[in-house]
Amino acid sequence: MLEQYRRIKRDHQGEVLFFRLGDFYEMFAEDAVEISALLNLTLTSRNGQPMCGIPYHAARSYIARLLKYGKKIAVCEQVSEPGKGKGIVDRKVVEVITPGTTVDEDYLDKGNPNYLCALASGAKGLSFAYIDLSTGEFRATSFPFDGAAERIRQELERLQAKEMLVQESLLEEYPAVAAAVSERPSLVINRWADWLFDPQRSREGLEKQFGTASLKGFGFEDHDTEILAAGALLDYLDGTARSLLPHVRTLIRYGEEEFVGIDESSQRNLELIRNLRDGDVRFSLLETMDETKTAMGRRLLKQRLLHPLRDLALIARRLDMVETFYRDQGRLSALRDLLAKTPDLQRLCSRLAMDKAHGKDMVAVKNSLLSFEAVETLTGDLSLAFENTAGSLLDAGASGKLSSIRDLLEKGLCDDPSILLSEGNLIRDGYNRTLDDLKTLRDNGRGLLEQYLEEERAATGISTLKIRYNRLIGYFFEVTKMHLSKVPSHFIRRQGVAGGERYTTDRLASLESEINGASDKIVELEKNLFLELREAAKALIPELTAAAARLSELDVAQSLARAATVRLWVRPGVDGENRTAITEGRHPVVEAHLPRGEFIPNDVLLDGGGISFALITGPNMAGKSTYLRQAALITIMAQCGSFVPAKEAHIGLTDRIYCRVGASDNLARGESTFLVEMNETAHILHTATSRSLVIMDEVGRGTGTSDGLSIAWAVSEELLETIGCRTLFATHYHELSLISHPRMANRSMEVLERNGEIVFLRRLIEGAAAESYGLHVASLAGIPDPVLRRAQRIMDRLREKEQSLHEELFLQEKTAPQNPSAAVVPEELERILEDIRSLNPDRMTPLEALNRIHTWKSLV
Ligand code: ADP
Repeated sequence: MLEQYRRIKRDHQGEVLFFRLGDFYEMFAEDAVEISALLNLTLTSRNGQPMCGIPYHAARSYIARLLKYGKKIAVCEQVSEPGKGKGIVDRKVVEVITPGTTVDEDYLDKGNPNYLCALASGAKGLSFAYIDLSTGEFRATSFPFDGAAERIRQELERLQAKEMLVQESLLEEYPAVAAAVSERPSLVINRWADWLFDPQRSREGLEKQFGTASLKGFGFEDHDTEILAAGALLDYLDGTARSLLPHVRTLIRYGEEEFVGIDESSQRNLELIRNLRDGDVRFSLLETMDETKTAMGRRLLKQRLLHPLRDLALIARRLDMVETFYRDQGRLSALRDLLAKTPDLQRLCSRLAMDKAHGKDMVAVKNSLLSFEAVETLTGDLSLAFENTAGSLLDAGASGKLSSIRDLLEKGLCDDPSILLSEGNLIRDGYNRTLDDLKTLRDNGRGLLEQYLEEERAATGISTLKIRYNRLIGYFFEVTKMHLSKVPSHFIRRQGVAGGERYTTDRLASLESEINGASDKIVELEKNLFLELREAAKALIPELTAAAARLSELDVAQSLARAATVRLWVRPGVDGENRTAITEGRHPVVEAHLPRGEFIPNDVLLDGGGISFALITGPNMAGKSTYLRQAALITIMAQCGSFVPAKEAHIGLTDRIYCRVGASDNLARGESTFLVEMNETAHILHTATSRSLVIMDEVGRGTGTSDGLSIAWAVSEELLETIGCRTLFATHYHELSLISHPRMANRSMEVLERNGEIVFLRRLIEGAAAESYGLHVASLAGIPDPVLRRAQRIMDRLREKEQSLHEELFLQEKTAPQNPSAAVVPEELERILEDIRSLNPDRMTPLEALNRIHTWKSLV
């Protein structure tokens, strides 16, 4: 047996092998050592081999835990009946369960997609694809080698993929990409040899999956880079899921230009779907927008939040749908009630497609269809423009098909069916004549047993005589010791037990076979009838999937309408102008966690042609970060098709949104704070366009005052002059307000001093902040008076010195004529900037980067 184990294990090196032995799954050798520690199991040994085991009926909870640890599990079952063949039982791996490929609801997170992705190196760039097997979503894209690491980070942060296939040589050739992949602790990485990524094989695999002769129908040419990774994913699934995937019906190409680009750290800093502190959904934007009622709606909302659009028409359509429900509160609450009762039809479809739907799943399919019909009736007279084009399947008479399958399931399935196929209890009485007859026979059989027992009790005079059952000997009479003398001769002894003896009789044996026969036939027939029902539903997967898509979209629309209602949001105007004008905007998350009415609204006005750059000064705690982020969040909400927290908002479409925060949270990556800041800043300067929105919060803090200030200064000028994007720049470098540019405005958060205390008004006003309030804050915090007085004296002296220096520098710059932008930048800063422009951070080692910084440092 151990030999058999070793043979099977050889093919499953990267997986934990669950080796079925009777009622247990056993693990041996290294698997046993590792897993016993991980799951806290007792480690024993067999023939000197370490070994541990788990009862087969409890396997699911152990598997769920192992998946959370990022393990892959190969389940090896006994495939021949024990005792019937010669020698040891045949065993085979029937399923490989991995974090990214499971479709089992017990192993999935309801409100989150479950992505498996692949990355490969194509002729013209990188090929990237991802799939959610639990819903059938399948997408692919490609991007250039240049800047690939940042792009991968962005994708992985957005997708939160569980598992990834990566081409091995890629990791070696592009260390920056390898770093981007390996820094995600919860991502399971499968390194695949290069030969497994073959363009032709990929294309053929995809064509086979979709049953088409080419991929042109999906918008792909034969040699498109995207195909490589997508095909590899199918290959991998072929080896793990081991079943056909009929619900995976299309491959959708997506490109960066469809969505607002939000790089990894901006996604985090904006706390779109999780907070920075502990990664929970609390205090995230998602939390304030999420009034969904179904898991599929929640997943779609999250997906939209992470993919704000750049398509005005599509945004308007989404807003229309939200507005429809917003204006019709009666219908909104009726819809919410219906959706609250709607199961996760999307994931049910995938289990149906993979022949994994059990009795309760099928009841859930039926309930989904009941909800769907009610929702259709409720919304039928509205003109709603759904995004998912599969919805057209539903218009062509498909609802008839769906209601007939619903009808069939209602008639066929019993109310609370078993989740096993081997127990009966699946089919409703009255659905099938033969089944009903067998059931009568079985139930009568029990009556016959009772009757026979009465007869024997009377005949033998043994009042305690019982008929009992066990798996080994079937039905038997049990006679206690006291009555053994009364046992008649036609009783045939089968077994002795502590309290007495067990017997059978010819009559009992024949009754037994009659009853068992009926029971076995019932189980068999119920199973077959169930499978017929399931097949009938499976034939409608395209329609069912379309219904699920429609329910998800409605759920998102109603969620946003509901959030707009309870949180007093308005419909934004989204247009093609390069301008952001928000009147009395609020930060959706900060507001939601303050008592009602306490949040102080502020305007945001940025105009690509007019004032495009607002420098926001003000002391700590004045509300700068909140103000900056609210501008970005409102923009994202609007471009997702949501109402926004403001009195009025006009959002000119943005192509990218950056949110930089004086770094300190990225220490986990093991780079210096300043280097991270500079990397991120360089990324903005390389990729931002005039249509981008840039939020810079205290950038330059990671270094000394003068280099920090100089860099902040030069970066500001670059954003103003060369890029010209809408920018909000919060800083404690008051000197920056000396930059004089027609497109720049100085604004500040108002602060009052009252009776020696500072009061934060959290109101944005024109003009730079007058003074730093650090000493006040220090005094509020209880720093002793002598220390404060000393600090005041030091500050006064420093300020005198700095003042004269800056005036000198400023005058110099001002008097230098020619190019107005270069004029205000010291020459050495210009050289640094040139350097920043020319370098490619993705190709640099940390050491090279540090050296570069030393060079800069020596220049200033
Ligand atoms: P800064 O970035 O200037 O240090 P923050 O934006 O972090 O300040 O704001 C500090 C605190 O002030 C926040 O935690 C928030 O609770 C509160 N706050 C900020 N802006 C507002 C506002 N507009 N209305 C009410 N409270 C606010």
